[in-house]
Amino acid sequence: MSEICPICGLPKEICVCEKAAREEQKIVIYTIVGRFKKKISAISGIDQKRVDVKQLLKKFKQKLGCGGTIKNNELWLQGKHKEKLKELLMEEGFKKEQIEIK
Ligand SMILES: [Zn+2]
Repeated sequence: MSEICPICGLPKEICVCEKAAREEQKIVIYTIVGRFKKKISAISGIDQKRVDVKQLLKKFKQKLGCGGTIKNNELWLQGKHKEKLKELLMEEGFKKEQIEIK
């Protein structure tokens, strides 16, 4: 007996929900000017119900060596890291075409 996907009801071997979830999302990376004019790189558009954003944030903080938090459903990282964040998102399985840098 194969496992059934709770979202689409199809057996797990032919279900593409999880894959689709990552590929469907339109992700935008932009800069926020925070308090004391500090720059913050924000990532919006990641579906927190389907992607473990806390884990992502932790990884990004380690790789960039900066502080960060989750705010208003977005990942906020201190400093200017837009290009680097795009690379890191791609390493996590997101597609180049779905990531927009503003
Ligand atoms: Zn499914």
